[in-house]
Amino acid sequence: MDLYEYQAKELFAAHGVPVLPGEVADTPEEARAAAAGIGTAVVVKAQVKTGGRGKAGGVKLAADADEAAEKAAAILGLDIKGHVVKRVLVTAASDIDTEYYVSYLLDRANRTFLAMASVEGGMEIEQLAVERPEALARVPVDPIDGVDAAKAGEIADAAGFPADVREQVVDILVKLWETFVSEDATLVEVNPLVKTPEGRVVALDGKVTLDGNADFRHPDTAAKFEDRDAADPLEQRAKEKDLNYVKLDGEVGIIGNGAGLVMSTLDVVEYAGRQHGGVRPANFLDIGGGASAEVMANGLEIILSDRSVRSVFVNVFGGITACDEVANGIVQAFGLLESRGEAVRLPLVVRLDGNNAEEGRRILSEAALPGLEQVDTMDGAAERVAELAGAR
Ligand code: GDP
Ligand code: MN
Repeated sequence: MDLYEYQAKELFAAHGVPVLPGEVADTPEEARAAAAGIGTAVVVKAQVKTGGRGKAGGVKLAADADEAAEKAAAILGLDIKGHVVKRVLVTAASDIDTEYYVSYLLDRANRTFLAMASVEGGMEIEQLAVERPEALARVPVDPIDGVDAAKAGEIADAAGFPADVREQVVDILVKLWETFVSEDATLVEVNPLVKTPEGRVVALDGKVTLDGNADFRHPDTAAKFEDRDAADPLEQRAKEKDLNYVKLDGEVGIIGNGAGLVMSTLDVVEYAGRQHGGVRPANFLDIGGGASAEVMANGLEIILSDRSVRSVFVNVFGGITACDEVANGIVQAFGLLESRGEAVRLPLVVRLDGNNAEEGRRILSEAALPGLEQVDTMDGAAERVAELAGAR
């Protein structure tokens, strides 16, 4: 889960990383009040989950409260790389002497953590990494040893931080590491970290990505930062039911058990769809190992609520959960949905294979569910479901 800047800074502040006081605002009037409360010149900053806000006109200085309201009015509603600004952060403006860059991230390729730091911050780090790679220090961080003052000193020296700020930077690097570890983040980035003309070092921007797999360890944080606006409403509902659902742009709804099978199903449907007017997968829904009636009903319900779906492919390879159980699950799911007033009205193609496939197929044939067809091979089923979607 990516956090907004104001949320990232909340975490920074909680761990002692210096940030400037600020307040979020959803309207120009709120921005005016926030600026009046801060009482100094402010910066009004678009809160969107993308970088490059500065260049896109999403970061503006305001000398007083009236100007803050004006700048907020200009920024609210702005489209920054496809993200519409609904909220701004009004924060004390700082004069800047120098802009630096520091971050920690999970370096999957090298199976370790990585600290990156540069005394040439401000610009986009991807650009710096390409244009002046020697200006970006990269220091691996052992997950067991972490970052203490000595390690932080090593990082600061690798980046060439000058003596006058070294002590502050070391302190910030240690506290950012504490933030990274104790919040279960996969990325903590400060760009820019600045030196003010008075020689104080502060985080002017913040980017944090939390590891969703660790949400259960931070129920409060996860609930507080969860972004209901940004998530697709169906993805949100699926998440509440513990289903792995991803919205795509096509027309064929896909339910399978196991991520590997679902991914190959996406491929065969995409391929078959080329012969049927270019129909494509509408979503990805993995019902996992235990395909009980309830799980199947919830899965079908989610997929059928997606207005772009024209046909549904249920592709199951029976393993620990055998095909006859899955077949019974489908039959009961039809009944459950009907009783919820959401009877299945779209064509469904089911392919059962693996453990107890024969018995599963028999159960479905006998049930003679409206609109449900069985095809025994994955390719054949993909062909049929694409044909059905293409014809509607
Ligand atoms: P980003 O463009 O999305 O990364 O947004 P940033 O928060 O990094 O802001 C972009 C740029 O605006 C920074 O690199 C600074 O140069 C400038 N900026 C941000 N906050 C302040 C501030 O308080 N004072 C001044 N003078 N400039 C700021
Ligand atoms: Mn930035």
